[in-house]
Amino acid sequence: MGILDGKRGLIFGVANERSIAWAISEALHREGAELAFTYAGETLEKRVRPLAEEIGAKIIIPCDVTRDGEIDEVFCHVQREWGALDILIHSIAFANREDLANPYVQTSRQGFQLALDVSAYSLVALTRGAAPLMEGRGGSILTMTYLGSEKVIPNYNVMGIAKAALEASVRYLAAELGPKGIRVNAISAGPIKTLAAAGISGFRDMLHYSSERAPLKRNVEAAEVAKAALYLSSDLASAVTGEILHVDAGYSIMGM
Ligand code: NAD
Repeated sequence: MGILDGKRGLIFGVANERSIAWAISEALHREGAELAFTYAGETLEKRVRPLAEEIGAKIIIPCDVTRDGEIDEVFCHVQREWGALDILIHSIAFANREDLANPYVQTSRQGFQLALDVSAYSLVALTRGAAPLMEGRGGSILTMTYLGSEKVIPNYNVMGIAKAALEASVRYLAAELGPKGIRVNAISAGPIKTLAAAGISGFRDMLHYSSERAPLKRNVEAAEVAKAALYLSSDLASAVTGEILHVDAGYSIMGM
């Protein structure tokens, strides 16, 4: 008996086995959820398909979140195959490499728009697709954020602004969808070595710094973020919505 027996979840954001979305998928699967996966482009399909098949996924489809047509196609597919949805995991972010290294003031209009589009607007678009499939049964939508939304983190730059927009979106979406029984939350995770993290200049220093200063004196693991994701995605969090849950070994509480 798993706490997600009979539930169906749609996962956005697996790039490889180190992805936070993959750790979350493993946890949801372990607790009985049936999962569907999307991948961002053909190159990633080679990585995502074997992982998804490993846990018995039948729906594995492309979705670049900058393309409305692909988003529509995903939800049509899920509607056709499942007719309903219980869980949506949004674990997606992107910014140009130079915008995560140069001074923030140099961010181009194009770089700003791209980061906000992929990393923040996509939650709105995916929620719009998912909500009709969750209506009448409730549901959980979960996204991934980082402390760079609240405090200045060197080199995080435009991604910090995107995460601030993402967190505000969580609150607006939670308020709008609450009457339908749909919950929307975010996890603010401590730094974890993944593909996306590798794009941030000085990421190794971030890992070192946060492990030294966090109350638990270490960094977090993707599997620990996944346990919190499991809680938020399940009935255990039935009264939790609009929340930004820090899973960061306590780092964010420290002032000095
Ligand atoms: P990751 O590289 O494994 O995942 C990022 C995902 O975003 C990839 O699967 C990639 O395919 C997807 N993506 C990028 N552009 C896309 C597009 N146009 N359309 C569809 N998908 C697209 O790295 P991760 O660290 O697992 O990142 C997942 C989430 O967790 C991100 O939102 C990230 O900001 C957040 N996060 C990461 C950390 C960390 O330290 N790794 C900390 C806090 C929050």
